[in-house]
Amino acid sequence: MKNTIQENMAVYLSFVMYGKTPSDPNEILLENIPPDNPYSFLYGVELQLPEFEKQLLGKEEGAEFEICLSMEEAYGPYEHDLVVDLGLETFMVDGKFDSEQVKEGNLLQFYDHEGLPLYGKVLNVGAAAVKVDFNNPLAGYSLRYKGKVEKVRPATADELEHGHLHDGHHHH
Ligand code: ZN
Repeated sequence: MKNTIQENMAVYLSFVMYGKTPSDPNEILLENIPPDNPYSFLYGVELQLPEFEKQLLGKEEGAEFEICLSMEEAYGPYEHDLVVDLGLETFMVDGKFDSEQVKEGNLLQFYDHEGLPLYGKVLNVGAAAVKVDFNNPLAGYSLRYKGKVEKVRPATADELEHGHLHDGHHHH
């Protein structure tokens, strides 16, 4: 009998992910996860987008799948309020503007008021302020995944205790 995707199973997927915004009728390729370097996670423990997880439930090893998520089921709409101007003083390191890191296109790590990390992308560096976009890079897209369940196996006792898989890039 083939293993099926369910709670506490290690799941390995290959897929291509396409995205579409409301303003453009064409899909664009956003991600390509090949079979020899699959995306893996511990089902029901390492939480995924809920609708993505729901649609994978019960699929057999070797099965092909296509999952479509609306923008709301994915990362939500693009919020213009999450694009903010931050004064240059925010980016001073030892009294100097950090021009090494703070440049157009770079992703910077910030901390919210609870000390949790969040990422912002530099859109523009002006004379007085830096424009930073705090939207998730996938905000504003509906998503379509087309892929294959490469492998499903029971998680080990260690993996269940740690809450993550141990055969990826993660060792401890
Ligand atoms: Zn671990």
